[in-house]
Amino acid sequence: MIKAVNVCKSYDTGTAQFHAAKSVNLDLYEGDFTVIMGSSGSGKSTLLYLLSGLDTLTSGEVYFKGQRIDEYSEKEITYFRSNKIGYVYQSIHLIPDLTLLENVAFPGYVAGRSKSEVHHQALNLLEMVGIAEQADRLPSQVSGGQQQRAAIGRALINSPEVIFADEPTGALSQEQGTIILDILTDMNRKSQSIVMVTHDIKAACRADRLVLVEDGSIHGILELGKYSTDQ
Ligand code: ADP
Ligand code: ADP
Repeated sequence: MIKAVNVCKSYDTGTAQFHAAKSVNLDLYEGDFTVIMGSSGSGKSTLLYLLSGLDTLTSGEVYFKGQRIDEYSEKEITYFRSNKIGYVYQSIHLIPDLTLLENVAFPGYVAGRSKSEVHHQALNLLEMVGIAEQADRLPSQVSGGQQQRAAIGRALINSPEVIFADEPTGALSQEQGTIILDILTDMNRKSQSIVMVTHDIKAACRADRLVLVEDGSIHGILELGKYSTDQ
């Protein structure tokens, strides 16, 4: 589904180039729950940004279903970001003066879809992530875990083909984190492709494929979950 070929990303740090991704080659498969792990600063977020078209490459190629997204025009990449992928961040960042329902619906309106259709789907998504009762509350009026559930709903509103999640449980309690992981796992069982960055071993156990990143390179790939031979 997503293919990275010799992907490099360097940052100009003033005195020298810092290589945050060093010739990464990676294949991600449709329907997989892919987890990216590695120590802090190893380049996990950088890799997620490159694979999802949220950041530009220094060199290399990124393909989504055979199309080179790193060569997309501004218009094509904007469409890709709002319709083909959903993104969930550790820091959540919902719009503070919109209700949870409005936050979930927002990218649907931006995509130019009909109001009633988006509204209906946003309600269904809030139901799915278990916060329908909080639909009319502002983010500040619910817990961090409930905010993150709304953020997952928002990421799903345009029915993306893949969800990228960058430490989605990182700012949450153990209990709230488990709820988020259960939601993601359940979505994946219903064939949603997911690519998640995490530090959390428990979260990594949900993976079909575990990609280990160290110092800007892929250190190894473990096949678990549906690929595991002993299930
Ligand atoms: P991780 O997600 O594994 O913690 P990141 O991908 O965020 O790692 O960062 C990898 C490395 O690249 C880190 O050393 C970080 O400081 C550096 N880095 C990330 N973004 C930038 C940037 N915009 N400018 C300079 N250095 C950056
Ligand atoms: P995370 O914990 O999710 O990996 P980080 O704290 O590493 O997030 O990075 C947050 C943001 O800051 C990212 O957009 C990243 O590109 C940027 N960033 C990280 N390290 C640096 C750096 N050394 N210089 C500039 N920007 C950075």
